[in-house]
Amino acid sequence: MPTEIHPRFAFDNSFERELEGLYEPWQATAAPAPRLLALNEQLGAELGLNPAELRSPEGVAILVGNVVAGSATPIAQAYAGHQFGGFSPRLGDGRALLIGELIDTNGRRRDLHLKGSGRTPFARGGDGKAAVGPMLREYIISEALHALGIPTTRSLAVVATGESIHREGMVPGAILTRVAASHLRVGSFQYAANSADQTLLPRLADYAIARHYPQARETNNPYLTLVELVMDAQASLVAKWMQVGFIHGVMNTDNVTISGESIDFGPCAFMDAYDPETVFSSIDHTGRYAFGNQPTITQWNLARFAETLLPLIDNDTDHSIEVATDLLKSFPQRFRANWLDGMRAKLGIGDVHDHDAELIDDFLAILKEQHLDYTLSFRALSDRLRGSEPTTETFTDSPAFAQWTQRWHARLPSQPRAVTADAMDKVNPLYIARNHIVEQALETATNGDLGAFEALVEAIRSPFTERAGMNTFTQQAPAEFAGYRTFCGT
Ligand code: AMP
Ligand code: MG
Repeated sequence: MPTEIHPRFAFDNSFERELEGLYEPWQATAAPAPRLLALNEQLGAELGLNPAELRSPEGVAILVGNVVAGSATPIAQAYAGHQFGGFSPRLGDGRALLIGELIDTNGRRRDLHLKGSGRTPFARGGDGKAAVGPMLREYIISEALHALGIPTTRSLAVVATGESIHREGMVPGAILTRVAASHLRVGSFQYAANSADQTLLPRLADYAIARHYPQARETNNPYLTLVELVMDAQASLVAKWMQVGFIHGVMNTDNVTISGESIDFGPCAFMDAYDPETVFSSIDHTGRYAFGNQPTITQWNLARFAETLLPLIDNDTDHSIEVATDLLKSFPQRFRANWLDGMRAKLGIGDVHDHDAELIDDFLAILKEQHLDYTLSFRALSDRLRGSEPTTETFTDSPAFAQWTQRWHARLPSQPRAVTADAMDKVNPLYIARNHIVEQALETATNGDLGAFEALVEAIRSPFTERAGMNTFTQQAPAEFAGYRTFCGT
């Protein structure tokens, strides 16, 4: 049984204090031989934790859940969720635990959470475990998104448990220590709205407002404002995903946060050749979570969120439905405004014109038609603007592209082109977590060699800055990688 006290983790557990009924107190299953595979020192420092202490056997024991720091109150959170459109009233942390909350060095409250720490009362048929590969994948992807300026849960550490687990064959087990603004999900509200305890939903809504959107409290209808602010956070988030070609892969309502952070990186991936229909997930047979569907699905998920709050928005259900529906209808415009702003920046355009959407869409149509790499094509534009040889991508010099280039040039600001090109390079990444490189890094890491994983993390930590010796990270997947499939992180 975990007993020791670690003074550096000063947890303050508001979720546990205020949201009884939305969790089960639980303990991690002991990991037989913990070994630290990855530690995010910068994030540790942000949390006020000492990297050397985290690396010590005592620190690793806490990161893996073998030791419970004094003020920690580990709990498995309850949530419900629509998975691929079908409702499950009871999902919850089947293999995860919220250890506690830390106030970071910026005064922000952050959850510390373990994933892969053993079966909980929510485990259903699962073994409660996680494999080294998928946990390192979450580490890579979350760090990549963070470095791209996209809100996301973070990865503090991955610790191998020293245990083999059963997947497709036996693989080494691991635990990810995750850091999040909170783990409140749309699915948390769905669970509360279905609960026999009538106090749970208002407690949760008030908690979410206090923790994430205190400004809602000052408005006429705080719960309707909560819907609106979550909507804005998600519109902004998904627009950012779309700008970097990110495909989440499993946007079930239990994987949609209230904070607006990206969460739960299972079958996610960055798109290579531009095609809105791209789907990588092996379980997404209908393309529900295809790249181009992400905004529409977000609106659907937000509708599920709004539904849960109807009883709090107004006593008169008809009126609640009316105002919530009106609000939800504004999602496409909110998303579009975010997306257009970001896409203009990607093209180096500084001001707003009526025909910008056409200019952007026509560029994307060329990428699609010529099967061009989404990421590298934007860098090729800035290279061309500078007059330098594109380092990577080349467009077929089609009449369509020549004509588009003329229209684009006419929209550029009146400043030296190199200045515009430099500004574009600050928003168009050069190094992304390419699927074939991620797969290779995870495979070698699973076999005990972390070199490729560490090199990839270093590349994606500064995605915009070209550096010597990093050419492998801009190379496109070999032909045999076509038809690439990702699997859930189970
Ligand atoms: P995910 O697809 O990772 O978002 O997980 C969906 C649900 O399945 C959540 O309730 C998880 O806690 C649960 N789950 C996933 N993998 C496992 C596992 N190996 N053991 C227990 N529960 C799991
Ligand atoms: Mg999930």
